[in-house]
Amino acid sequence: MGEATEVRGVVFGPVHSRRLGVSLGVNNLAGKECTYSCVYCQAGRTPSKSLTRRVFRDPTYVVNEVVRALHNLSVRVDYVTFVPDGEPTLDACLGYEVSEVLRSTGARVAVITNGSLLWRADVREDLLNASLVSVKIDCGSEEVFRRINRPHELLSWSLVLDGILKFSKEFTGRLITETMLVEGVNDSPAELRKISEALRLVGPDKAYIMVPVRPPAERWVRPPTREFLREAAELISEYLGRDRVHLLASVEGRPPAPFVGEGVLDSLARLTKVHPLKLDYALETIVKEARVGREEALKIILESGAFEVVRYGDTFFVRVRRDG
Ligand code: SF4
Repeated sequence: MGEATEVRGVVFGPVHSRRLGVSLGVNNLAGKECTYSCVYCQAGRTPSKSLTRRVFRDPTYVVNEVVRALHNLSVRVDYVTFVPDGEPTLDACLGYEVSEVLRSTGARVAVITNGSLLWRADVREDLLNASLVSVKIDCGSEEVFRRINRPHELLSWSLVLDGILKFSKEFTGRLITETMLVEGVNDSPAELRKISEALRLVGPDKAYIMVPVRPPAERWVRPPTREFLREAAELISEYLGRDRVHLLASVEGRPPAPFVGEGVLDSLARLTKVHPLKLDYALETIVKEARVGREEALKIILESGAFEVVRYGDTFFVRVRRDG
């Protein structure tokens, strides 16, 4: 297979997020860089895990691109969301970018982080101004942490949870959690109780229980059954209260196209680098934007060389072509 497609733009979408409403995405990294390599990651395996914060892009450029996109969009955006194809807090300029987007646009700003660097005071400080922060709690034990999140070797679950707890006490915005349940990995009754206990300690405004719905990094990853999910949500509700637990078990709805980008293929590439899109939605977008028929739209995707079509369950997705 050829080389991965290079995508330059930092702003993508907007998409209908199942948690945030209409969300305009910001990819503040330059490639898949993360502290974890989760088995279910929709951005693929992490080539080399890192704990080093660094400058990925000119932060003024990132802020200006968000301002420009918001100015040109015809739909109302609920959140500008830092959600790259990796861990957003690895960006040493994140605090500046969050604060400047808030100051110059007045938009609400969300950061979707795995929370693995919140034991660092500088990372907690960078997130304090955000309107909403989402952190990941997929496990309650070291053993399952290593199996599902496959973290950098210097991270331990106790260190990560301690950081998340510190942040939960300092942060005055809206804190939510994401828990991805994977069949045979973190779905034992004992682990679910530990996850529930960790959630109770963190005390999120809302705990989202999720399942893999897009092509995962590892082919064997499967969602638990619907019946199990209902039982899991019941158990977690015993710790948090029913109104704070929300089950998300399907792909979100049709995105509010047109997307941000320099033409339809660039905008699809920006989006599907982070967020694989249902093939149906991708075709509809091209049909509308390029004024062609559905067959022609499929030909454009397949012949561009920039994308791959991947099946997960019964659904086909389009994503930017990757190495390997
Ligand atoms: S799911 Fe998030 S935390 Fe996990 S490897 Fe992918 S980008 Fe990193």
